[in-house]
Amino acid sequence: MIPDALPCPFCGGAATVEDEPWVFGVRIARGLCLDCGAHGKEVQFRPGPDDGARDEAHYAAACAWNTRA
Ligand SMILES: [Zn+2]
Repeated sequence: MIPDALPCPFCGGAATVEDEPWVFGVRIARGLCLDCGAHGKEVQFRPGPDDGARDEAHYAAACAWNTRA
């Protein structure tokens, strides 16, 4: 499953993984702090007929966020 995003390494605020439209049908997923707006590594993905690509991107984005110093 997709790991929960750990609290923000900068301000300690709650964080989440969101995705938003990018270009040409591609979306980007990234960890995002709800308090200070800091965000982690952006993971591009192309949504498919099921949620597989989305889940994979969210997983990668959550791991990137959670492993930052
Ligand atoms: Zn923060």
